[in-house]
Amino acid sequence: MDRATVRLLRGGALLRRNFPSCLSSWKTPPHALNSSQSEAQLKATSNGLPLAPLQTFTDEEMMIKSTVKKFAQEQVAPFVSKMDEDSKMEKSIIQGLFQQGLMGIEIDAKYGGTGASFFSSVLVIEELAKVDASVALVCDIQNTLINRMIGKYGTEEQKATYLPKLATEKASSICISEAGAGSDSFAMKTRADKKGDYYIINGSKMWISSAEIAGLFVVMANADFSAGYKGITCFLVDGETEGLHVGKPENKLGIRASSTCPITFENVKVPKTNILGQVGHGYKYAIGSLNEGRIGIAAQMLGLAQGCFDYTIPYIKEREQFGRRVFDFQGLQHQVAHMATQLEAARLLTYNAARLLEAGRPIIKEASMAKYHASESSSPSCATSLPNHRRQLLTSRWSLWLPPVQCPFQGVHEAMLRSSFKPFSDSSQQMGPFYSPIVALNKLPKI
Ligand SMILES: Cc1cc2nc3c(=O)[nH]c(=O)nc-3n(C[C@H](O)[C@H](O)[C@H](O)COP(=O)(O)OP(=O)(O)OC[C@H]3O[C@@H](n4cnc5c(N)ncnc54)[C@H](O)[C@@H]3O)c2cc1C
Repeated sequence: MDRATVRLLRGGALLRRNFPSCLSSWKTPPHALNSSQSEAQLKATSNGLPLAPLQTFTDEEMMIKSTVKKFAQEQVAPFVSKMDEDSKMEKSIIQGLFQQGLMGIEIDAKYGGTGASFFSSVLVIEELAKVDASVALVCDIQNTLINRMIGKYGTEEQKATYLPKLATEKASSICISEAGAGSDSFAMKTRADKKGDYYIINGSKMWISSAEIAGLFVVMANADFSAGYKGITCFLVDGETEGLHVGKPENKLGIRASSTCPITFENVKVPKTNILGQVGHGYKYAIGSLNEGRIGIAAQMLGLAQGCFDYTIPYIKEREQFGRRVFDFQGLQHQVAHMATQLEAARLLTYNAARLLEAGRPIIKEASMAKYHASESSSPSCATSLPNHRRQLLTSRWSLWLPPVQCPFQGVHEAMLRSSFKPFSDSSQQMGPFYSPIVALNKLPKI
């Protein structure tokens, strides 16, 4: 270990639990990360915002990035093909995510979390997705949605109960979509009826990521249909609760190791102390969280596209046709340059949105643009367009990189465009029937 690394580790800048073996001499005592915002050694403007190129990382962030890269290569890569074929997540990977502190990245050390920043989550998701986008998705949902929601809206009791579990042992899912409520998710039919100190939830959800492995479900249900979407309320539902049934996972084209399941709620009894935030505010929490979560999905798509690119370059340098490496054909070099440019743009959009969020600045447009562009960059027409590589992709590892078509989760492509267009719209312009969080924000009170 070089001296610079030793200095960093002494500063406590490493993930808390189970340090990689190369760093094992620093295993005890564990050090929680401090927020990288506070440690950023960057030039600052007069209002305190960092003034540095977007791809400048703090020491902590660099350390996290390299730790995750190592984890992904050593502990995830060997299982990628099998997990894809079997549509099944390898248990040791989930355990590894917990052990490395990657499921509670922003959770405060007092709840057993890593105590790092949102930007660190983005780097972690990107690094994981380079190797396996399914693993990245599990980590993304936990960190950029669930943990943040509980951290923001939870009572002290809820935080003390759930955050330590989320940091160390429980994966989680967010349940919003239903068969008849996709982009228009306020049309949800799942209901929560108050009975004294309890609510009884009935209904069904669709396409719920991580459902097969989740121990906690954050469930949106309408507690007062007479109030329309203002009846939507957010509940914390333990996985073992009677009446909660997780159905068979969808047989997807891509990210197959991430389970995407239907869930039914049959008279699921949830104490009112498990309401997250206020009754009837679920729609606000969904909108706010999904807007932020889009940055995580952008990081996932970016990592996925970068992983594909990184896999392609050595192949085209090795593959020979017409007596030369295909890499030497100028037509192909232009495509490499095109893809590299797409990736650079996606990375800058994603990092910019993450830094803005950390600075407490508006992110709706920026997060949507990042997700839109990163999804485009990772789409089959772009990430896998290098022709030399098509044959191999289509015959072997294709589905590993195939994102669900245009990545609809956390908002379809049109919703991202709508949100990116919003700053240019004038007051006479109807924003259309889209419920989508983006449009709804026009009409709804500020969170
Ligand atoms: C892999 C995967 C994981 C998911 N994980 C979760 C999860 O964990 N939790 C959860 O709650 N949900 C999850 N979802 C659901 C996801 O959020 C929805 O798929 C998404 O909201 C879109 O809804 P939909 O599929 O019903 O499409 P629809 O809303 O029915 O849209 C169908 C088509 O119409 C277009 N469209 C819709 N409205 C408009 C409009 N106003 N203008 C123009 N075009 C429009 C869309 O772009 C799309 O092409 C997941 C989905 C997938 C595929």
